[in-house]
Amino acid sequence: MTSRILIQNGTLITFGSPCQVLEGQALLIEDGRIARIAPKESIPGPFDQILDARGQLVMPGLVNAHMHFYSTLVRGLGKAAPSANFQEVLDNLWWRLDRKLTLDDVEMSAEIILLDAIRKGTTTLVDHHASPFAVQGSLDRIARAVKKAGVRACLCYEVSDRDGEAIITEGLEENAAFARRCAAEGDAQLRPLFGLHAAFTLSDRTLERASALGRELGIGFHVHVAEAASDVAANLDRHALTPVARLDRFGLLGRGSIAAHAVHVTDADMDILAATGTFVAHNPQSNLNNAVGIANVQTLVQRGVRVGLGTDAMTVNMLEELRVGLWAQHLRQDNPTCAFMELANTLVARNPELASQLFGFPLGTLEEGAAADVILVDYHAPTPLDGNTVLGHLIFGISQATVDTTICAGRVLMAGKRLMIDVDEARLAARSRELAASLWERF
Ligand SMILES: [Zn+2]
Repeated sequence: MTSRILIQNGTLITFGSPCQVLEGQALLIEDGRIARIAPKESIPGPFDQILDARGQLVMPGLVNAHMHFYSTLVRGLGKAAPSANFQEVLDNLWWRLDRKLTLDDVEMSAEIILLDAIRKGTTTLVDHHASPFAVQGSLDRIARAVKKAGVRACLCYEVSDRDGEAIITEGLEENAAFARRCAAEGDAQLRPLFGLHAAFTLSDRTLERASALGRELGIGFHVHVAEAASDVAANLDRHALTPVARLDRFGLLGRGSIAAHAVHVTDADMDILAATGTFVAHNPQSNLNNAVGIANVQTLVQRGVRVGLGTDAMTVNMLEELRVGLWAQHLRQDNPTCAFMELANTLVARNPELASQLFGFPLGTLEEGAAADVILVDYHAPTPLDGNTVLGHLIFGISQATVDTTICAGRVLMAGKRLMIDVDEARLAARSRELAASLWERF
């Protein structure tokens, strides 16, 4: 069945580099792909659906390069002890929480946050999952939520030594099982990566096992790298290597791998990240919240590192994350006009590149042949909007605008700000509150 959707009368913002603004162009969706971008008179019907985007921007669905769905049920939890540093944040909150998660909690967390993602126009999310006492089957449960929401996600399980040998093995196997499932099914909404927590919670032996298995599966790795200074200190102390150098020694970096954070990296580390083509996911709101410092995006980019943008579960609103990223970089560099292009490109150019690489087809830009992941955003430009001004509009204006319509793989997930997928949101939220109350009880 061929479904043809025509989007007309909107202003197109293409993303990619350069990010272009196209007026007078309609966009035809056919078979889940963007089939044509041309004046509407030149696109013959019939159409199954015509969307009038007058007063709206037509943009690609946004990509989140680092996310943790499982943190959804922590919203409002006030029981964690005050933490003086990042290790205490992990000990007092995240590692206490994730040990109590059940498979039902895991699936619900994903279901809830993915509705938010649809509302904010984020249609591809690269998740990093942990539930050490509910490992087996966790990625299938998240995948079920992803399928239900109709978005795309790249999933992994974060292997860590912190809960002992049996759980290390379960984590390794969970990554492998999900990767094999993806390879067998070829579902265009799901992709695998091999998840690792961070070098400071992984022994050489576990890194070796993960490296061998990841190579056998032919997938890249997704790992937290030098998020806090304590990660660097622990690795230097125990292994006389920085986290970047140590992960590189085990063959865990490369074009298919994501290093989340890279806040505390040396010049030599940056050169390794650049030489291996490793993708760095910058998460400014999380870095601010955890008071771990801010990645030096300006220098990373200048040294040739591919830097994209994640949210580390602080939000699913990518333009909000980008905006905060720019302010944070100004503070980091003590310079109120620096790093504009470096930051803007994380979301506009690098994230689409990452998603296209992970999924194996063009994704995250408006171009003929790319996946039909498209959003309509209410926005009447109050100042000239063209190729020279579009990045300023994205950060200062469009980030504050409302997403009206979200389409993924040619399927309309939200229209007129109403979810079009099969979900009773009130009932889902009620069930989620029950699960959260019980989780908080066990916390
Ligand atoms: Zn993270």
